[in-house]
Amino acid sequence: MAEPPVQKLAVIGAGLIGSSIAQASLAYGAAKDVYLFDRSEDVRTRASKLDMGVICDTIEAAVAGADLVMLCVPVGKMGDVTKEIAPYLSDGAILSDVGSVKGSVVEQVTPHLPDTVDFIAGHPIAGTEKSGPEAGFQSLFRDRWCILTPPDGVNEAALAKLERYWTLLGSRVEIMSVERHDRVLAITSHLPHLIAFNIVGTAADLETVSEGDVVKFSAGGFRDFTRIAASDPVMWRDVFLNNKDAVLEMLGRFNEDLAALQRAIRWDEGDQLKSFFERTRSIRQSIVDAGQDTDATNFGRDD
Ligand code: NAP
Repeated sequence: MAEPPVQKLAVIGAGLIGSSIAQASLAYGAAKDVYLFDRSEDVRTRASKLDMGVICDTIEAAVAGADLVMLCVPVGKMGDVTKEIAPYLSDGAILSDVGSVKGSVVEQVTPHLPDTVDFIAGHPIAGTEKSGPEAGFQSLFRDRWCILTPPDGVNEAALAKLERYWTLLGSRVEIMSVERHDRVLAITSHLPHLIAFNIVGTAADLETVSEGDVVKFSAGGFRDFTRIAASDPVMWRDVFLNNKDAVLEMLGRFNEDLAALQRAIRWDEGDQLKSFFERTRSIRQSIVDAGQDTDATNFGRDD
């Protein structure tokens, strides 16, 4: 196997994404050694039972001497963690992150960044609704996009190293601006999650009057929303509070389009409804064609 691009990888936060990164880095030869730290003693104990590198008792032990440090904590914690690790970062190290929002993370991290460290923010477009170290798996990033949002005047050698690292994890790397990232993710990820949280919440309120019918007949589409709505509450609180402008803008557009559908139903505008649904069906097909989802009926479920 070729020499790994990263010698010592430090992963801060050993949850779903942190543990997947650790496992993938070792399995696919992207990092020679992996050191993890999590602030929770319980998470550290659970992580030490999994095969994914050295679990450290202090953040300093994880970060010291690392040539790549990956922040895998909730978006609202990125600034605090950077402040904590700044004294231990090696000269020439690359600092990166996996946060689902980029503008806020760059704002939080930059004031604490030593001059001798390159910060290149990132976001793997891969995940599940599960949390914690046991939820991680090495193939999570395979055939998924990883977006990097380097600053102007980025150290090109550092960027090339990070790109190679993610490519070895199986990802396709796309470079874009922080602003574009936050707008694209607001419509493709943040708004769909908000809608899922809302529809499941509305149904939960109805449940009390319909005596179990919502759960009983959930295969009618509702259960697909419940998977998304089971996502980590802390992570998603932070996403919405840290990508407020883009999410509110997309929510405004969504509300307008919903009002148009409402109107079409009220006035029996069947042609309008049909052509709208034809357009959405073709978008689904283009996602399948792009290899971003399975074409199996009902996502390959038996029922
Ligand atoms: P997770 O499973 O909850 O893991 C986060 C871990 O970070 C938890 O163990 C948490 O410990 C720990 N942590 C929190 N504050 C810390 C601190 N100050 N120092 C050290 N550890 C700390 O969450 P996740 O799904 O892996 O998400 C991590 C990041 O990945 C988030 O920024 C999220 O936006 C991003 N992301 C998530 C997904 C996804 O689908 N889940 C996809 C792409 C990107 P406690 O439990 O004690 O708080």
